Amino acid sequence: MPNCLFCDIAQKKEQSSIVYEDELCIAFMDIFPLGTGHVLVIPKKHGVLLNELEQNLQAHIFSIGNKIVSAQRKAGFGVKGTNFLLNDGKAANQTVPHIHLHLIPREKGDFLKAIPKIALHVTGVFGRRTSRETLNAQAKLIREHLLT
Ligand code: AMP
Ligand code: ZN
Repeated sequence: MPNCLFCDIAQKKEQSSIVYEDELCIAFMDIFPLGTGHVLVIPKKHGVLLNELEQNLQAHIFSIGNKIVSAQRKAGFGVKGTNFLLNDGKAANQTVPHIHLHLIPREKGDFLKAIPKIALHVTGVFGRRTSRETLNAQAKLIREHLLT
């Protein structure tokens, strides 16, 4: 798939902070997080909409997402709750046309803080990037808790 940012991340042509990887999917830190410790899970195979994937691959993405959420919580991200979010199509605010499941750690009462960030995400203007050092440190912490 030419010119797909997430295919490039899956193929390691583009830098990312990897949390998990197997033969079917890869998970990495969102560079413009909606909550501290925000992770994206993507299939390695390109597809825009969820129903382009075989059923077992769809289920795999969610199953891995679930495991990562447990690890995020052990690492202190989203202890009180998490948004599992999948924007399926442009009209649903999908800005990167490669299937991805968001795992967005939330904190009690963070909605007001989150509103401006959500508004920017919807327009595709994401604001300031989180530094690679911070993303790498968060990814390491989550990876360590995936093993426990
Ligand atoms: P969506 O709006 O559902 O398509 O989500 C796309 C997500 O990709 C957004 O949350 C962005 O912050 C995120 N994103 C964009 N570029 C990168 C990148 N280079 N590395 C990690 N996440 C990214
Ligand atoms: Zn792609």
